[in-house]
Amino acid sequence: MKASKVCRIGLQPKVHTRGTCKAIPRSGACISQCRPYSSYNHFVSKLEPTVNESLPESSLEHAFTLAVKDNIATTDVPTQCASNILASHKSPYEATIVRQLRRRGARVVGKTNMDEFGMGSHSTHSAHGAVRNPLSSGEPRSAGGSSGGSAVAVKLGDAQVALGTDTGGSIRLPAAYTGTVGYKPSYGMLSRHGVVPYANSLDTVGLLAQDVQSIQRLVIETGLAEEHDPNDPTSLPPKTRQRCKRATASLPTAPERLTIGIPLEYNIEELDPSIRQVWQLASSVLGEQGIRIVPVSLPSTKEALCAYYVLAPAEASSNLAKYDGVRYGARGQGGDKEGETLYSETRGAGFGAEVQRRILLGTYTLSSEAIDNYFIQAQKVRRLVQRDFDRVFKVANPLYEPQHFDLSDMDASTPLEDKRGPAQVDFLLCPTAPTFPPTLRELEDQNAVDTYVNDVFTVPASLAGLPAISVPVPVQGSQLPAGLQLIGQFWDDRRLLEVANMVQRWLKA
Ligand code: GLN
Repeated sequence: MKASKVCRIGLQPKVHTRGTCKAIPRSGACISQCRPYSSYNHFVSKLEPTVNESLPESSLEHAFTLAVKDNIATTDVPTQCASNILASHKSPYEATIVRQLRRRGARVVGKTNMDEFGMGSHSTHSAHGAVRNPLSSGEPRSAGGSSGGSAVAVKLGDAQVALGTDTGGSIRLPAAYTGTVGYKPSYGMLSRHGVVPYANSLDTVGLLAQDVQSIQRLVIETGLAEEHDPNDPTSLPPKTRQRCKRATASLPTAPERLTIGIPLEYNIEELDPSIRQVWQLASSVLGEQGIRIVPVSLPSTKEALCAYYVLAPAEASSNLAKYDGVRYGARGQGGDKEGETLYSETRGAGFGAEVQRRILLGTYTLSSEAIDNYFIQAQKVRRLVQRDFDRVFKVANPLYEPQHFDLSDMDASTPLEDKRGPAQVDFLLCPTAPTFPPTLRELEDQNAVDTYVNDVFTVPASLAGLPAISVPVPVQGSQLPAGLQLIGQFWDDRRLLEVANMVQRWLKA
């Protein structure tokens, strides 16, 4: 697909939307009142696009169906982030990424269900109710979150490609749980203009599809990865893009010239034995294909999850302050009664329990009494996580001055072998999730921290802003696949997708 060959599909959409109310009812059950579109509850609004027949046949050449996560602005249907506080919200403009994809032939088929404002790992914290995983025939299981609706739309073939957002794993985790491919680009590569922020320093927009190739075509071959968006202050500026491109453009992809690292710290006790086995098997398959497989150490991995769950809620608490019923968002019905404030009424009724928890957490960790112990410490851990990655990748991080391996960090007892520095790798391979998707009933018995543990393998790449992709791998004797994650150096997305494409082919059956 070439950028010059983009086509335009004329749409006269028929829109179906689940609930658009003016105020939050006391029950707080506003947008969940209508019946779901399917038993998997993955769409929150649907479009029935009719192709404008006046357009020439040739313009349909590259048409594809696209599902859009409900925190990405569209003008034809509401954008509610699965939250009652945005029950009446309709965006006056469309997200850049949606416009870019429409120019490449996308026909939007609907908006997908998600965890409210992207906060969650199972797409259960939604004003529309939980998304269900189509892969499980018995007890309903988690579809992963927060882009669970997008993953299910792709899995069921309702859309060829789906847009999701990934702050700490929200594309990769649902991809792993539903047997689809989920790609999170380097931070700042794809435009976030028109995407409702959760945690600005971590948020990325990415894609889900059945195969890596569909994502590769759109992101690399049509030049999407190269488009700077002046409307998005976090979109990498053109000059920096050029520098990053130069650093990564000529790196090899032939298997015999690749080294893949197996991060030892990811082999945690909680890892399901079948997933561990798939990981081992995959490394030997990759080895047989000529790739050099080496163990590597990322010592700060253990602290990454804690750091993430301090930083993300802190940013969220500040981002979500605008939903007060005055500046933004639906207003609570109670109004400003004696002894109550308008804000608490509005925010109490409009936000779900998990979002409220994050706001409280974030407000606390940013408070003057706690900031030094929590927020500042977490920022330091984030630097260490980034440093761990930079130490093991062959190619230097194009954003920073190259750092030399520092022998002074080591004491005299370090064996000579280790003093040569860590193995230098092109990519890292690890599981995407520590377990298979839990049943929705199991989730009811889990506390918040139990669910946060699902993100243990996805948050490190998010903290470092690195590109990562989850590829589905069948598991012998199980109807549920596992997801394997490949992580690359910053801006090495082209190669990451190319290698992931090979890996998906090799591990398919
Ligand atoms: N599960 C993580 C969280 O709740 C990640 C969510 C995301 O990537 N949007 O913060």
